[in-house]
Amino acid sequence: MAIDHRIPVSLELLRQLHHVHKQQAELQGQLDRGPRQIKAGEALVAKASQELESAKQKLKQAKMSCDEKTLQLKSREDGIKSLQVKLNAAKSNREFDTFKEQIAADEQANLVLSDEILEALEKIDELTAAVTAAEQELKQQIAAQEKRVVEVSQRMLVKEEELVLVRERLAKAEKEIPASARPDYDRLVDQRGEEALAPIDLEDESCGGCYQTLTTQLIESVRLQFLIRCPNCNAMLYLAK
Ligand SMILES: [Zn+2]
Repeated sequence: MAIDHRIPVSLELLRQLHHVHKQQAELQGQLDRGPRQIKAGEALVAKASQELESAKQKLKQAKMSCDEKTLQLKSREDGIKSLQVKLNAAKSNREFDTFKEQIAADEQANLVLSDEILEALEKIDELTAAVTAAEQELKQQIAAQEKRVVEVSQRMLVKEEELVLVRERLAKAEKEIPASARPDYDRLVDQRGEEALAPIDLEDESCGGCYQTLTTQLIESVRLQFLIRCPNCNAMLYLAK
């Protein structure tokens, strides 16, 4: 509990200090958000880039598998041709039948394989479209990120300039703080930032920072423009206009 009736302080100064502290905190918050927004955008670009890579990889695998099947088909077709030569040169009915059966079996196998190749080609069409879509998405994300970086950077420049002005205003106001209260004030601001000060809620007779109920005597001291700290949260109390 730090009530010091001996330090007089202007209510107007406390109001102004709190106002400028809040402005400073707001600006600082906006400045902190900037890099987070840029980082989030970078993550979106990275995700789109990974998805494109994955789509390309799937397409590549589908093409390889299709090529293998096509080679297999071709090689079996060649095999059928040489079996036909053998069939034509068969020296016995038995040999003839054997070759014929082999040819029939290979032709059947190639029919199945042809179907598979058709399916694989359709799949390749789908995967090609997916790669195009992923490329488009990546392009859009990159463009959006470039725009975001420019916008955020410009906004941050403006906020930084505002922050410089607010800090100047704060430094000027702080000069008005009674010297005997200054170390306390500095320590409090260091620990709590804008919450170093709090308006009194006259309706509830409570601290606007922590909602602790305040005594009438304490509120009266604030009204008489003495530096009074909230017994609960330590904030320097003032009366809002
Ligand atoms: Zn309080």
